[in-house]
Amino acid sequence: MAERVAGPEIERLIQLLARLPGLGPRSARRAALHLIRKREELLSPLSDALVVARERIVTCSTCGSIDTSDPCTICRDGRRDATVLVIVETISDLWALERAKVINGQYHVLGGTLSPLDGIGPKDLNLSNLVARVEQGVREVILAVNATVDGQTTAHYITDILKMTGVKISRLAHGVPVGGELDYLDEGTLSAAMRQRSSL
Ligand code: ZN
Repeated sequence: MAERVAGPEIERLIQLLARLPGLGPRSARRAALHLIRKREELLSPLSDALVVARERIVTCSTCGSIDTSDPCTICRDGRRDATVLVIVETISDLWALERAKVINGQYHVLGGTLSPLDGIGPKDLNLSNLVARVEQGVREVILAVNATVDGQTTAHYITDILKMTGVKISRLAHGVPVGGELDYLDEGTLSAAMRQRSSL
């Protein structure tokens, strides 16, 4: 068994860092060492930021995203088109769309997908206020869910519950990624791209 090389406080820091997504024990050790070496520039501001995050971050009761205020910054932003509602599975999906600056609407974060195999049903998702939100002047709902089986099951379910509102519902196109080469695509993607071809 390996000898312990540092005191329990440092070991604890490494163990906690190793729980972060994308960090194994080896990269956690490197991150811990880096933080300790950069104590003033990195470790102190990071620990302050973590305390602030723990104390101030709340879930937005309108859209289900997180922020330091409820309603969140996006829900309060009057420059956004409130008639377009983009439904995403996770906050990281919302952030990805915001980074790409592709849509200036409002969001609704489901917090996951329906997954009968894992026992995740409609009650486990952020759906309780969706119909009410749509009825407040939304003209188009864009289902920006993942192109997975669970994502598509969820999209069908939402389409069903929104049917009575008469809102226009669209979903993201499936197909050839930008910069993608046909030769490398799987058959499902190729066939979706061919079905959803658009005229030039
Ligand atoms: Zn919000």
